[in-house]
Amino acid sequence: MNEPQQRFAARSATAFEEAKQVIPGGVNSPVRAFKSVGLTPLFMKKGAGSRVTDIDDNEFIDYIGSWGPLILGHAKPEVVEAIKRAAELGTSFGAPTELETEMAKLVAARIPSIDLVRMVSSGTEATMSALRLARGYTGRSKIVKFEGCYHGHADSLLIKAGSGVATLGLPDSPGVPESIAANTITLPYNNLEAVRLAFERFGDEIAAVIVEPIAGNMGVVPPAPGFLEGLREVTKAKGSLLIFDEVMTGFRVGLNSAQGLFGITPDLTCLGKVIGGGLPVGAYGGKREIMEQIAPAGPIYQAGTLSGNPLAMAAGYTTLKLLGEPGVYEQLERRSARLEEGFAANARELGVPLTINRVGSMVCPFFTDQPVTDYETAKRSDLQRFNRYFAAMLDLGVSLPPSQFEGMFVSTAHSEEDIEATIEAQREALKRL
Ligand code: PMP
Repeated sequence: MNEPQQRFAARSATAFEEAKQVIPGGVNSPVRAFKSVGLTPLFMKKGAGSRVTDIDDNEFIDYIGSWGPLILGHAKPEVVEAIKRAAELGTSFGAPTELETEMAKLVAARIPSIDLVRMVSSGTEATMSALRLARGYTGRSKIVKFEGCYHGHADSLLIKAGSGVATLGLPDSPGVPESIAANTITLPYNNLEAVRLAFERFGDEIAAVIVEPIAGNMGVVPPAPGFLEGLREVTKAKGSLLIFDEVMTGFRVGLNSAQGLFGITPDLTCLGKVIGGGLPVGAYGGKREIMEQIAPAGPIYQAGTLSGNPLAMAAGYTTLKLLGEPGVYEQLERRSARLEEGFAANARELGVPLTINRVGSMVCPFFTDQPVTDYETAKRSDLQRFNRYFAAMLDLGVSLPPSQFEGMFVSTAHSEEDIEATIEAQREALKRL
């Protein structure tokens, strides 16, 4: 444990040691281990609104938000109530329920490209299933993905990936057979020329291009003007499907998600995080003609014991309904813009090179003075500096994602005071660098 942390994380340190005896690396998902920042992960016991409390009773303003799902903040009372009501009626049936249809209707009404949608239990399942569907539908094997984009941990997608694998420097995971990797073409994000070349060479073999319409797993990297339009054009011309992985951006950047924001219609869309309201949910959907290839409507198989789980549907449906109230995204935009502005002003005044990328409530300050437009430029950030900044912010009561390659998530629970306190903490943290 580093020196400032010794003061406040004694119980977490003990809990971590104990966890390591029975859980690989002590955690059930790698980024939680704080490995790259060289600190002890904080074990949480409670969340309420914008705050989390760890087992040493430290309270933090939280910008992890469970890595995106908690757009309404922790333990949003309406969501908790909906989960309780559902639980009392039975936690799982393995039979259809009416709420699943209501949920599907709501998702289809809000996501322009979705006629039919299938619920699964994680983002990984959503992207994995969407790829199988794209391959089955087109009868082709290859897929195109982009460096630094993370689409979950299915074999085909764990190649030059972002998020935890980027943070830990394991972009090409052992255990992915070469025969599978050979079908994944990986290109630089925002580079349409590379996409055109790949299609010239392999066009007839490419089942799909999968892309985060706003990359959120190499920090936050917005699409360059024309990039998504270009992907739409090229895929259409060559009979490949365009898959938007909106697991992170879905209902995060707007009620109609990134595709609504940019006015591009993909063939398939993957969802997760926000649509589960903090419970395990993923989904994939798209045009009727394509989605009807999924079993039992069609021959392409995909299933799940807990898919469309009543508790998860209750949490997700309530979250989506609340997000539909007037002014929600406007408030998120205002608060997030203020955060960006405050961070930028502090950095300017203190002479710290900082490039802040932001789309709505996804915010990422990179420790570099250069624009960050893809994975290569994201990697040029000063990672040591980020680590010191992260530790200082934690010490000052602000919980950030423990990696330069992850964005902060602002929620509707972050008050103006929270935002100002965070800007003040960042100022102090930058001074300590
Ligand atoms: N796609 C994207 C864009 C993601 O950000 C993530 C998770 N961070 C996933 C897929 C995988 O989702 P899950 O962790 O729920 O499997």
